[in-house]
Amino acid sequence: MLTREVYENCCRRAEEILNKAAIVITDKEFEAMEVCEYGFGKPESIGLELVVYLNTDRCCAKELILFPGQTCPEHRHPPSEGEPGKEETFRCRWGRVYLYLPGEATKPIKATLPQGRERHFTAMREIILEPGEQFTLPPNTLHWFQGGPEGAVVSEFSTKSRDHLDVYTDPEINPAEERKV
Ligand code: ZN
Repeated sequence: MLTREVYENCCRRAEEILNKAAIVITDKEFEAMEVCEYGFGKPESIGLELVVYLNTDRCCAKELILFPGQTCPEHRHPPSEGEPGKEETFRCRWGRVYLYLPGEATKPIKATLPQGRERHFTAMREIILEPGEQFTLPPNTLHWFQGGPEGAVVSEFSTKSRDHLDVYTDPEINPAEERKV
């Protein structure tokens, strides 16, 4: 759980990055911004800021805001209720994002693994997305990503988001726990 001060600080930093990307959100969307911290309490290194535009039974659209070096930990979206897991398309709008998938490991990778959690990152095929570039992840594919030197804004287009079902490689992350503040 984050303190109000840390939460508000992350939201302000995320807003500055959105401004650089010239992405306009409403006051209501700003107030509803989510700061994920995955139970570690240091969102500036293991975390993510999210603005959810919509999440219906069929589709979902979000803005993901990453600080420099901020990391969304490795996870996958498993099948549920007779449907394949969530399919995600990431499109970089501003900055640079380092995305990692299973496959032939890139050596060396550009990202820096979060200290103390290194062994919980296994997918090492690197894909670098710059503004205007996008990548579609098939359902149930392990992935993790990190903001580049200036951070990043990434638009995510996907099928329905069911965050509580996500499976994380790091056993200390419990997706069923309330990650919002
Ligand atoms: Zn994902």
